Formats: sequence, C-alpha cells, structure tokens
Amino acid sequence: SKSNIGLIGLAVMGENLALNMERNGWQVSVWNRTTEVVDNFINGRAKGKNIVGCESLEDFTTTLETPRIVMMMVRAGNAVDEVIEKIVPYLSEGDILIDGGNSYFKDTERRVKDMYASGFYFVGAGVSGGEEGALNGPSIMPGGAAEAWPRIKPILQSIAAKANGTPCCEWVGPGGSGHFVKMIHNGIEYGDMQLISEAYFLLKHLQGMGNAEMGDIFARWNEGKLKSYLIEITGHILLHKDVTGAYLLDRILDVAGQKGTGKWSVINALELSIPLELIATAVFERYLSSEKLLRMIAAKTYPRKKPEVVSNKEELIEEIHQTLYAAKLVSYAQGFGVLKKASETYDWKLNLATIARLWRAGCIIRSTFLDDIAYAFEQDSNLENLLLASHFSKEIQEALPYWKKLVATAAHEEISSPAFSSALNYFYSLTTDRLPANLIQAQRDYFGAHTFERVDEEPGKFFHENWTGHGGNTKSGTYNA
Ligand code: NDP
Repeated sequence: SKSNIGLIGLAVMGENLALNMERNGWQVSVWNRTTEVVDNFINGRAKGKNIVGCESLEDFTTTLETPRIVMMMVRAGNAVDEVIEKIVPYLSEGDILIDGGNSYFKDTERRVKDMYASGFYFVGAGVSGGEEGALNGPSIMPGGAAEAWPRIKPILQSIAAKANGTPCCEWVGPGGSGHFVKMIHNGIEYGDMQLISEAYFLLKHLQGMGNAEMGDIFARWNEGKLKSYLIEITGHILLHKDVTGAYLLDRILDVAGQKGTGKWSVINALELSIPLELIATAVFERYLSSEKLLRMIAAKTYPRKKPEVVSNKEELIEEIHQTLYAAKLVSYAQGFGVLKKASETYDWKLNLATIARLWRAGCIIRSTFLDDIAYAFEQDSNLENLLLASHFSKEIQEALPYWKKLVATAAHEEISSPAFSSALNYFYSLTTDRLPANLIQAQRDYFGAHTFERVDEEPGKFFHENWTGHGGNTKSGTYNA
C-alpha cells in the first residue's frame, strides 16, 4: 500500500518524528540525502515497522498516496531550497510540502509564495521539543498555505503532544507565521533560561547554598506557579553527579552557545519597534559569557569582595521565587507584544490564546503559566499587554516588594542579575505616564530641528523651537528616526 506521508531528513529530529508517525498508525516513507543513513534506520530502529526506506527521491515520491504530503526535517537554510529543487520534478499539482526545521520565517514566506505559483502547497511548521518531543509528542506550529491544513491536520495532531487531551498543534496563520511563532518560542526559551540562571546565581552567592539544597528548592518551585519543564530539569541538573561523584554542573565551563533563533527574535523586535529587552539581555549575556578571557582579565582589574550572606534565608528564597515569576511574566508580555505587532504588520490574524495553548506541552517552555496566558487572551483578544490582565496585575502587585528588594540587594552585593533588573525597569517605564522622553525630544529638536509635540497642544501638531536664538526656523522635514 502507499504511504500516508513521506519524511525527508533522518537526523535526530526526522528519525524520531518518523517513529512517532508510525506509532500513531501512519505508513511513512523516508529518504535521506546520504543513503547509508536510510539503511541504518530501516535495519535499526525502524525494523519491523510500517516504514518504507527509499534510495532515490523518485522512488520516494512514487510510494506516496496522492496528493502527496512530504515533510522535510533537514538543516535550515540552503538545504531546504536544495531539497525543494530536487523533489519538485517528481511532484504533482496539489501536493503538500511541510518544512519542519527551524527555517527563518522570511525564507518560509518566500517559499510559500513560490510554491503556490508552481501549484504546490507549502507549510512552514515550527517543531519544538527536541529529540524526546519528536518521538513522544512535540509542540507543532504550522503556518503557510491554509489549503494544506485539512489534509495534514490528522497526521500532525496525532503525533503532537497533548495538554489536557488537546493536541499542541493548531493552524497558526498564513505565510511564514508558523516559523515566526517558533522563533519567538525560542526567544522566550532564551529568556526563561537566563532568568533561571540568575535565580541559581543569587541563591548560590547570597546564601552560599550548595547544589543539593538548591536542587530541592527548584523541586519545590516546580510544584507551584513556576511549574515548568525548565524548572524541573534545573532541579535535576543541580543534583546530577558525574562518574567521579562530583556535581557535574560545577565543572561545566561558563560559556553559553547558541544557534541564532534568540538573535533573530531580537532583530525582528527591533524591526517591528517593539521592546523585547529581556530576551535581548539573555542573548547579549550569552555573548558576554563567551568572552571568558576578557571576563577573567576584568575580574582581576576589579576585584570584588565576597557578597554578604543575606540573613533571612526563607525570605530571600521567596524574593527570588517571586522575582523569577514576575520577570518571566515581563518576558512573555514582551514576546506576545512582538507576536501581536507582527500579526498586525504582516496581516497574519494570529490568535494569541491559541499560540499560548500550543506551548502548554511538548515544547521546552511548557508550563502551567501558559494556561493563565491563554485565559487572559481568551478574555480579551485585543489585550494590549499581558501585564494589564487582571490576574497578572494581581500577581505583579504581590511580587513587586520582593522583586525590587532583590534587585537592590543584588546590585548592592555586586552580583550580576541583568534580566531581573531589566524586567523591573521595563515594568517601571511601562507604568510611568510621563517618561523623560520629553528631554530626548528637546535635544533632538535642539541639534537637528526634529520638532516635538506639546502636552498643552493637540496631538499631531509639531513644533520647532529656536533654542539658541541664532538657529534658523527651518524644520527637519519628515525625518523621524
Ligand atoms: P540537522 O539540523 O543536523 O540536519 C541534518 C539533516 O539535514 C540530515 O538528514 C542531512 O542529511 C540533512 N541535510 C543537510 N544538508 C542537506 C542538503 N543540502 N540536502 C539534503 N539534505 C541535507 O538535523 P536535526 O535533526 O537536528 O534538525 C533538523 C531540523 O529541525 C533543523 O532545521 C533544526 O534546526 C530543526 N530542529 C532541531 C531540533 C533539535 O533538537 N535538534 C529541535 C527543533 C527543530 P545527510 O545525512 O545527508 O547529511
């Protein structure tokens, strides 16, 4: 019989997705550029399973029921275009191509258009959950040619993670929206990881706490409102010992790697003119961590005394707990702010509640907190900022006394906690009805005649002042940078 779906690219993600599909009752054909990889898979993990290995792309396409569904799990970038180019001669009108890799959404936008023009339906689907998710249920964020959705829905929803029975796979929107949402997911992941690292750092240095005790604290936090995959694994990581019996975490070099999706999130936030400071801080901190040699020299130039241990331990733990929650909320408020602006700018009509629900299981940022976010957007789909939702404003008010005290303590004890303080400053700016931007406008007008609006005049009326008495009265046209 013919296969229901074909999968291209048998690296860690493709292999596990193929097994997941087969386990859910679908017959899968597989192809990989390097044929040996196909053989190894068919004779290894796929042995005895309803999986058809193919040596050539031509064979591969003939084993599929029509209209065909082909999912690619290959390296993001040129590889996707190469595979498309190679497979298109064997496809027929109405066939569907899904790109499940971490492609840049602008590439997906282009591919959806080009493939439409050739009579094919292209879908860019973000897949999150790593190896384990791919096998047992990832979170899937498909977007692109909507015509494809009714056909791919049963397969993708069957393999997706389930949150209270609901599959973490829903149609996101047109064009590159699925990959955009995946990109922001990854950006939020960077933010969450930075925040958790700061919590760990403060527990360690303001209390001199050992790994075992910190592991217990994270395990305890994982039972409350911070319950999430990343908090859970942090607890495990803290307790993990290597073969010599030493805590492995203490022996891992403090240089963080990255593959670029955090950076893309920030670049796009800049392009859309929406603050994404917390994620930007997380990305920049990874860069700074990479400058290990420079940091070692600077640490010698500015030697620091050991921080004072904060006397009330339980209170400090609660301060960190509350701060972690509040700063995480700020990060999500910013991330969803970018999604909202992108939706308006690209006319994607994103449903933010649906997106929050897609992330409740299967993916790296899964947490109970996302239920509350989904609920907030369900109550008000035009919610301007998550911090304005009534549930969250109560939470922020509760956290604020702890949050500002902790940021002040960390600053005083000279312990770096950039995301905690960035979040607090965002909160202060957001809740300030008159910022010092009046001075910035005055300076811009002073040196560049960029004009300003006045609080005592109609909005939209622009004024220029002759600040020095000897400048001209010429304004700087429509210059608005
Ligand atoms: P890789 O990103 O390492 O990609 C390797 C696969 O791509 C191999 O099958 C390789 O074939 C194929 N490939 C590379 N270049 C070409 C080409 N020019 N033509 C045809 N095939 C090519 O594999 P992963 O499984 O890690 O990831 C697959 C995709 O999923 C990527 O886009 C990744 O970003 C994304 N992703 C990965 C996650 C992870 O945890 N690893 C999580 C979520 C998404 P060959 O064997 O011939 O070299």
